[in-house]
Amino acid sequence: MILRVFFRGDDLEREALRSLFENSFRGLGISMEFSDPLENLEGRNDAADILSTLLRKTGAHPSIWVVDVDIQLPGAGSIFGCAAGRCAITTTSGLGRNAWMNVAMHEIGHILGLDHCTAECLMQPAGNEEEVDRRPFALCE
Ligand SMILES: [Zn+2]
Ligand SMILES: [Zn+2]
Repeated sequence: MILRVFFRGDDLEREALRSLFENSFRGLGISMEFSDPLENLEGRNDAADILSTLLRKTGAHPSIWVVDVDIQLPGAGSIFGCAAGRCAITTTSGLGRNAWMNVAMHEIGHILGLDHCTAECLMQPAGNEEEVDRRPFALCE
């Protein structure tokens, strides 16, 4: 299986993401393939709208779009990321590098069918950046 990652980062960030991914999800036989962002998102911040663009343009192929705009859901305000089926979006906006990469790995876990988990685990829910920074990159056993 190939997981498509839509992300305009530098080579170091791409390699950092790839190595985190390989550590968190090793043994699943999934590889990452990077592509440039699907659209310019300037002026858009509706997470549901951006996610539906991703679903439509990828045909719901397993994929994650790392955006650089603030993303929001009605009633929830700004969010770090969200997933629907096998697609997810996540943002770098307002987050340190460790945090946004952790959120990206967490959303990839959702894409792969993992639910939230209360153990010391990548799939712990997190409500703020401090909680994200405390969350391990590893899955519990
Ligand atoms: Zn989650
Ligand atoms: Zn767990």
